[in-house]
Amino acid sequence: MALSEFELIRHYFAQASARSQRSDVVLGIGDDCAILAPQAGDELAVSVDTLVAGVHFPEQANPYDIAYRSLAVNLSDLAAMGAQPAWFTLALTLPEANRQWLGSFSQGLSDVANRFDIALVGGDTTRGHLTISIQVIGSVPEGQAMRRDGANCGDGIYVTGFIGDAAAGLEQVKVGKPRGYLAQRFSRPQPRVSLAQALRQVATAAIDISDGLLADLTHILERSEVGAKVALEHLPLSDQLIDECGLEMARKLALRGGDDYELCFCAGAGQSAEIEAISRDLGVPITSIGEIVSQPGLRLYDAAGEVVAAPEKAGYQHF
Ligand code: ADP
Ligand code: MG
Repeated sequence: MALSEFELIRHYFAQASARSQRSDVVLGIGDDCAILAPQAGDELAVSVDTLVAGVHFPEQANPYDIAYRSLAVNLSDLAAMGAQPAWFTLALTLPEANRQWLGSFSQGLSDVANRFDIALVGGDTTRGHLTISIQVIGSVPEGQAMRRDGANCGDGIYVTGFIGDAAAGLEQVKVGKPRGYLAQRFSRPQPRVSLAQALRQVATAAIDISDGLLADLTHILERSEVGAKVALEHLPLSDQLIDECGLEMARKLALRGGDDYELCFCAGAGQSAEIEAISRDLGVPITSIGEIVSQPGLRLYDAAGEVVAAPEKAGYQHF
């Protein structure tokens, strides 16, 4: 039996959202607007991202993974600011109302939403090429958001977790191997939400790594009007990535490949003990990869201290 738009919303989205425990949702799905009650003294961090089938994920990707990834990448933007997730809205464009697809999609969405305590409070449903737009709203104590424009000369540059994995994982997803470690790093990014809140105390600037370290760190450099020295041999690479594609390709993917959703941040030179403690407490590796300098631009150094050229983006196909 065909699903009406109203039944679809009620069955797949309103019910899951009604189970959210957040007391700051005065009015959720079902009216013309949601009514939300932010806490006094907080600022709101707001971001929206659209994922288009065939562009941001393979057309045939598993709906659970599509939902997971769509919300996770938005949560990563909140993490990049050091914000605490609170609410989100979903604009969903679907080629057809397929119950099995919707069941799996809404399960993925509510699994991530519950884990990060973010409530679905509204949205829009239309017919067309499969496209998912999610807007997230989070809160951050007044004046404490981690911005891109605060890096200073002499700051250390740090990266959380491992980078390069997701770019290799995407290739595996494309050739029908979606379940290994690397593929899961693409399909199930883990936004660094709690880690980011601890980092607010030490970071001068931060960004999440969605387009590759070179591109994303460059955003910090431009906004902060500084440059950077980055040590190639300090890039945090997983053993799985090196085993799969060798050290040279692993470094290239870490610099140029996107989709890892780790954080890159800067912090004053005196903060390294504090950063080690945060890393230990939250169980996430944090690696120092370089230093902010006054000379504009980003320079890569090899182990001998020689400047090396950044790898080209093109050329990566299969292993
Ligand atoms: P309106 O016509 O007033 O914009 P809609 O009929 O589009 O309202 O939506 C009815 C209610 O369902 C609204 O509260 C809206 O926020 C919510 N809604 C619609 N689509 C979705 C969706 N995909 N996910 C969550 N909520 C949705
Ligand atoms: Mg209306």
